[in-house]
Amino acid sequence: MAEILVSQDYVSSTIVVGAHAEVITMVFRSKIILAVGAHPDDIELGCGGTLCKLAKKGGKVVAVYLTKGEKSGDARIRVQESTKALRVLGVKEIHFGNFPDTEIPHSFDAINFLEEFSLRYSPDIVLTHTTNDTHQDHRQTGWLSISAFRNVQKILAYETPRVMSAAFLPTYFVDISGCVKKKWEALQCHASQKGKRYLAYHSTVSLSSFRGSQVGLACAEAFEIMKFVEKI
Ligand SMILES: [Zn+2]
Repeated sequence: MAEILVSQDYVSSTIVVGAHAEVITMVFRSKIILAVGAHPDDIELGCGGTLCKLAKKGGKVVAVYLTKGEKSGDARIRVQESTKALRVLGVKEIHFGNFPDTEIPHSFDAINFLEEFSLRYSPDIVLTHTTNDTHQDHRQTGWLSISAFRNVQKILAYETPRVMSAAFLPTYFVDISGCVKKKWEALQCHASQKGKRYLAYHSTVSLSSFRGSQVGLACAEAFEIMKFVEKI
């Protein structure tokens, strides 16, 4: 088996592969991106800046939520707010499932629901929840994604404000400079949730700054690599 040396250049969000020094960008070379979240606002919080950048670069972004977030407000309003937020970020295709908020099942139906999007869109990459999260729906979405997207070659897991800080160990960072304002603008669309501590400006923008500071950038979003298959 050929020896492949892989090192990560966090500054440019690229992976440099050994002998040929070929530069491969995991996120930004992706043409079709599938973003998955448990509740309205999860995708915006976890990878809103990344999606904004991808949409600017002409990527086709599809967003899928498993629930409509009815445990934290009116489902109809929450769907409207998330739809508006994602439109701010440049996401044009948005889907909502009917799984029960706080009780997303680990079931064939749930796996099948997500897998349908994989079959329909053939995404180059999936962005989903980390399984290292204190919210059961977030963990479940991460686990479901592993099964549903078993044939997708690249899966990154984003963080939420409920992430387990001792367990979420990001190894991939995306420079979201130029998109932080848009991310904040998108999060403000969640008017019904504005009392939530984690949706405050200082929480969201400071996290971007903190993640950036870890890798020498002004601002970033952080991910765990759940799977990375490269064909050369
Ligand atoms: Zn959530």
